[in-house]
Amino acid sequence: MNVPDFSFESRPIRVVFRPGAATTAPADEAGRLGLRRLLVVCGRQGAHAARAVADSLGSLCAGLHSEARMHVPVEIADRTVEVAHAAGADGCVAVGGGSAIGLGKAIALRMGLPLIAVPTTYAGSEMTSVWGVTEHGVKRTGRDRAVLPRSVVYDPELTLSLPPALSVTSGFNAVAHAAEALYAPDTSPLVTLMAEEGVRAMTSALPRVAADPEAIGPRSRALYGAWLCGSCLGATTMGLHHKLCHVLGGTFDLPHAETHTVVLPHALAYNAPAVPEAITALNRALDTDNAPHALWELAGRLGAPRSLAELGLTDDDLTVASGQTAAEAYPNPRTVTMGGALEVLRAAYQGQSPR
Ligand code: NAD
Repeated sequence: MNVPDFSFESRPIRVVFRPGAATTAPADEAGRLGLRRLLVVCGRQGAHAARAVADSLGSLCAGLHSEARMHVPVEIADRTVEVAHAAGADGCVAVGGGSAIGLGKAIALRMGLPLIAVPTTYAGSEMTSVWGVTEHGVKRTGRDRAVLPRSVVYDPELTLSLPPALSVTSGFNAVAHAAEALYAPDTSPLVTLMAEEGVRAMTSALPRVAADPEAIGPRSRALYGAWLCGSCLGATTMGLHHKLCHVLGGTFDLPHAETHTVVLPHALAYNAPAVPEAITALNRALDTDNAPHALWELAGRLGAPRSLAELGLTDDDLTVASGQTAAEAYPNPRTVTMGGALEVLRAAYQGQSPR
């Protein structure tokens, strides 16, 4: 087999993966980083887990701020910066899903504070240098090394409370990162290994997570898959699938993980003719000969939404969304015209098998 040309940059993130780590590792990580006053941030619903992390930090905890919201509204980021200043924080611990970690990243960006991330979903933000802040309904995003967590503490016990439906869609969100990384312009041999294993781990774990959400074994495997998929997201540039989801979330306010779940099989089916090696890797991971269909089938079997109509999109929205998707430049293995974007969106809207 030929080795493709590639460039790969490893990111300086320390990862600790262990059941129970959330209440032991953050203090150890703070010690390694020389931090003494950590502000713990989380969303309102995540306050219980964050309180346990804050308590475990003891005198290293400078406060608990439970204001994180989806897409990091700028006024929440502003207020959190004030709270961090007032508390004399020299570091931040973000406990929660992409929303809480997004708020931690906003603090890291604005104040230069080192970030320790304790993820409780499979969204993968903890492994990327991408930040986002929403102002006047528009989400600005960017990449900056300052927001890359210094340490990530993965504790599968924290995910036991993630509702089964959200576990499944969040898992598909993770799979989408790995799938697009397989055909990203900046993919590399290590990324393809992580991507295939990430998809295998996540998709094999999800049926067991859905059947028994409080079993630690499947939860560990799913979180391991999320780490691999998030690492792929952090290392590469995403294509059509992520662009579509960005438009659907940003303009139509569709829910993040559910939208990824619905769109992924159709975006992959569209790109499949241009990326046979990526599809072969996905087929291996899913033990199938038709990865887009297998993902669609898995989502349905686990009770996840399969159509954009179910998520509240209307037929009229399709044209607007396809226009926005085609208008912006992003790397994709197949050219995306407005007609092409509309084809994918219409299929996702109807929710039929992408076969
Ligand atoms: P989220 O963080 O908003 O969490 C979804 C819901 O689940 C929330 O109500 C939360 O309180 C709850 N929740 C989280 N963990 C839980 C747990 N263990 N038990 C019970 N409830 C729990 O959603 P998300 O899907 O994790 O993240 C989506 C956000 O993250 C979006 O804004 C997205 O743009 C962003 N994101 C950013 C990146 C990046 O690289 N910057 C990557 C992925 C996602």
